[in-house]
Amino acid sequence: MSSALNTSLLRLRAHEGPMTSELVRRPADFGLGLPQVPARLAPTATTTSICGFCSTGCSLKIHLGPDGQALNLSPDDRYPVNLGMACPKGWESLAVLDSPDRATTPLLRNKTTGRLEPVSWPVALAAFVQNFKGIQSAHGAHSLAFLSTGQIPMEEMALLGALFKFGMDGLHCDSNTRQCMATAHVAYKQSFGFDAPPFTYADFEESDVLVFVGANPCIAHPIMWQRVMRNKRNPRIIVLDPRRTETAQCATHHLPLRPKSDLVLLYGLASRVLELGGADPDFIAAHTENFHAFRAFLADYPLSLAAAESGLPLAQLEEVAALLADRTKRVSYWWTMGVNQGHESTRTAQALINLALMTGQIGRPGTGANSITGQCNAMGSRLFGNVTSLLGGHDFSNPAHREKVSRILKIDTARIPTEKSWAYDQILDGIDRGDIRGLWVIATNPAHSWANQNRVHALRDKLDFLVVQDLYANTEMAQMADLVLPAAGTGEKEGVLINSERRLGVIRKVRRAPGQALADFAIFKLIAEAWGCGDLFRAWSSPEATFRLLRELSRGQPCDFTGVEGYDHLQREGGIQWPFPSPGNAEPQLGSYAPTSPSRERRLFADGRFFTPSRRAVFHFDAPRPAPEPPCAEYPFLLNTGRGSSAQWHTGSRTDKSAILRKLAPRAQLIEVHPADAARLGLSSGQRVRIRSRRGEAAATVAITATVQPGQVFMPMHHAEMNRLTAPVFDPHSRQPSYKACAVAISPA
Ligand code: SF4
Repeated sequence: MSSALNTSLLRLRAHEGPMTSELVRRPADFGLGLPQVPARLAPTATTTSICGFCSTGCSLKIHLGPDGQALNLSPDDRYPVNLGMACPKGWESLAVLDSPDRATTPLLRNKTTGRLEPVSWPVALAAFVQNFKGIQSAHGAHSLAFLSTGQIPMEEMALLGALFKFGMDGLHCDSNTRQCMATAHVAYKQSFGFDAPPFTYADFEESDVLVFVGANPCIAHPIMWQRVMRNKRNPRIIVLDPRRTETAQCATHHLPLRPKSDLVLLYGLASRVLELGGADPDFIAAHTENFHAFRAFLADYPLSLAAAESGLPLAQLEEVAALLADRTKRVSYWWTMGVNQGHESTRTAQALINLALMTGQIGRPGTGANSITGQCNAMGSRLFGNVTSLLGGHDFSNPAHREKVSRILKIDTARIPTEKSWAYDQILDGIDRGDIRGLWVIATNPAHSWANQNRVHALRDKLDFLVVQDLYANTEMAQMADLVLPAAGTGEKEGVLINSERRLGVIRKVRRAPGQALADFAIFKLIAEAWGCGDLFRAWSSPEATFRLLRELSRGQPCDFTGVEGYDHLQREGGIQWPFPSPGNAEPQLGSYAPTSPSRERRLFADGRFFTPSRRAVFHFDAPRPAPEPPCAEYPFLLNTGRGSSAQWHTGSRTDKSAILRKLAPRAQLIEVHPADAARLGLSSGQRVRIRSRRGEAAATVAITATVQPGQVFMPMHHAEMNRLTAPVFDPHSRQPSYKACAVAISPA
């Protein structure tokens, strides 16, 4: 252990000490609406911090005791996102940090006993360096990989990506954003020239027609749904979903299409909109390219074909097409995982983008082709993960971009790779082949969440060394590790998250992490010192110093936020949406929408200028392909998956730690079965069944409900069983897995 590393460790531990006074504020409305607390625990101050679960990005008021530690919280009524609301996860976001399952010390697997045993940080860091450097010297620099997350602040993501690629000579890395938003990223990049969701949440309130595709915001994004409920325009709400979800039950038009008939259905609707004269020729001529080819392509997709393929009545589709074609109305398109997690997901997302473009429904209030993201910092991951894009949305293959990053970070250009990483599934294939021998997993749980989960478990034995860095020592992935590094959670560290509408918001440190757990930022800094590349990251001295570096990297990019002064500025303004360039930096690339002040709700493309070289949006399309795994005699049901309740988050690593959240969600893995199928199979509600797919088996409890269609079943994603069944099928453009339609068989357990 070098003295430099020891000094760093001491400094970082000291930084984990008392709360800094700068995060303490006293709002005028202090105390309003707070739960009652004993007088000796009465809050003495309040700060705000962004919720660390979903991409909505709600702000929470954190009420602090005399020692600056969080006592409790309430939703922030002045924040433009949540307007004083929070879902159950947000209310319980401090409680989940108190779990006895927290990792409080590094754990190293004892080779003799096979057990994970507590060790000191110096021992853990030495094990990390010795094992990973040993693998690299035996198998080459690219024999290491990391799998990361959309759950940590962008400063931590950037430091991780920079450390791994510029400091450790690694190349292959990905994050669980691949499971969630890779499709939207690729679709926007191809169509708009940059990964740029154009909307603001005010659009939920300002639309006349809202089209939700593969989205169930009532459950998955409940605060966004509250924004829809505030819409005073008597909106038509159209939901395309095979299930009669909670959102579909609130819709004016529910289209329960056959699973994976979405692409042909959207082409059919576009074709009919054209016939009805719904296209906007002026917008198309001035702001798009490739429309004529798209129009010719649509000739093969009449609405009658869409009706036949989707199983929907032609009259219902006619009614919907007429709504989409009415250019006196504001129409907005919204999608999430039902689109992103499909075998042709990028073209499906672009079919929605095409509809918005051809009708000129973009850049105005209540319009847009709008991807709702999943994780709290999926958007930060897309810009600063250093995975498929070089830091700041730059390209690894572009010499000018590499030179810019090198200059700002004062890192030799030769250290910046010229190619992007393998995607998640390709990294797993690399492990299978023996090309990847060491894996570092940060704040994610692929042993539960990856499609065809059994393969992840089988690949464990092919790794020479597995490091898992997480809040909890008992996740499925942590239990498989050789080394566990204990991490601080949201509320125990600082940084910036970017929400679905491009809003940068600050998370604040309002409590100490337990035991020896450290902020991921601090862990990455320690690893840099232990690895011997700490000098590269001297300027990355704190999360906010790193924020200033990232701000400079954004200069001149569509996401330019050089006008943001720092964390206090973001907190003062109620978050700031990008772009927000510094005065005088609104160069032509940013177009006329570049703001000079952070108005609270802003959308992109008001001037019809996109980020492609031609400044025009591009129509992309391909012929639909058959679903990869149709039902058959042996596997007669189609399995759909998704979120189960607003009290659960992903693999339950955090939400299962709250007694209140556990009460609000089913504890058993459920499988929803249509009453006709249940009668045919002789199943009753509450009965245990065995579900088989070509990949594996799972057990579940039957819930009989007509919200699923005959021949289809639904399983929530929060229990480990589900992904034993799902198929390793990937969209060719985004390499996002298709979790939504695999063939299964059901029998009594
Ligand atoms: S909607 Fe999302 S961001 Fe808001 S409180 Fe719930 S989990 Fe947190």
